[in-house]
Amino acid sequence: MKREGLVKSLLGAATLGLLLWGGLPLYRHRHCDIAVVKGPGVTAVERLSAYSPGLRNTVADTSVFVLEGREPGGKAILLGDSHANEPEGLLASLIFIENAVVEKGTLYVIPFFNNSASRNTRPGDGYPLYFDVPTAWGALRVRMGNRDASPLDQWPDPDVYVHFPDRQLLSFIDVRNVNRTWPGRPNGPLMERVTYGAMEIMRREKVDVAVDIHGAETMFPVTNCIVAPEKSVRIATLAALTVKATEGFENHVEPSPAGFRGLSHREIGDASDTLPFLLEAPIPFLDQPTGPKTTKLILDGKDPFLLSLAKRKKLFVPYDESGWPLEKRVGQHCSVILEILRQYSKRNPDKPIVVRGVPRYAEVLKNGVGYYFSDPKKADAKSIVDN
Ligand SMILES: [Zn+2]
Repeated sequence: MKREGLVKSLLGAATLGLLLWGGLPLYRHRHCDIAVVKGPGVTAVERLSAYSPGLRNTVADTSVFVLEGREPGGKAILLGDSHANEPEGLLASLIFIENAVVEKGTLYVIPFFNNSASRNTRPGDGYPLYFDVPTAWGALRVRMGNRDASPLDQWPDPDVYVHFPDRQLLSFIDVRNVNRTWPGRPNGPLMERVTYGAMEIMRREKVDVAVDIHGAETMFPVTNCIVAPEKSVRIATLAALTVKATEGFENHVEPSPAGFRGLSHREIGDASDTLPFLLEAPIPFLDQPTGPKTTKLILDGKDPFLLSLAKRKKLFVPYDESGWPLEKRVGQHCSVILEILRQYSKRNPDKPIVVRGVPRYAEVLKNGVGYYFSDPKKADAKSIVDN
């Protein structure tokens, strides 16, 4: 009897030890904040719950950085981390927050759009919890998140996700995928409250342009492109042609399918006067047939298996030994966003959006992504926003 009790207590202690060993890193990741340094252009920082009260006191509530220009003009909103395992969107939006100076018009930037997903991971795929972007002052540590919100924040999942308001039947997992829950509603599942908040910014503030910034597999046909519905396609095409002619990189236009509901590039345009654009840059880390999912793969995009698949023409983008590094993905996003704003301003001279201070493709390639972030330890405490 005595011996049985001892075995039971030892097993109990071992189980508790395993739980702590496995759970503590996940707990720390969920509660680890990134210090975002407000750049010279930031005039206000709001919370998304100001537009969608159903987000109050939830992990899905998130910061909205407002960059109001010196002169009036048009308005644009940028969304990073819609899918929090596609960090080029987050990093491009952080570059805008730290570096952009708005001459005319207003920018709204939500870097952690799916804040819950950015504090989630994908254990089955062996994702790293963080990766470091090298800078002159050390490293900017970034949370690597997941595609979907954490079940700790939104649960249980339905058997089928019935999209609102179209009632199209989507996969159950898409109820936690913020790029299937547009245009959202104030009292729906948490992710619908997130998209509703962004829709409310667009409707109330009369936002003209919305850019949802992503990354996509090299083996997925919708990659290295701008996805645009009919109303945005002209500006998207001009932006794609201009970056190719003047900056030398490819970024084609994909039409947004009218029958596939819940996506930002479809629903934003249908539910408001805003022109939506969704940007995809190729991220080898997301492809299935790669080696281990390492932080190195996030940064340099080099993988031997993709290289052999490229030789057999299985990828939808050119791919060689140089991989598809982070600076290339983020640099493309910066240039394409600037070009969309420029093309919009040319067609709407009464509502220009003029931004300076944001690097273009060649500069990001040359300097690296970390060059555009300052050391939060040296920054004035008032200019730091923890996210
Ligand atoms: Zn995505």
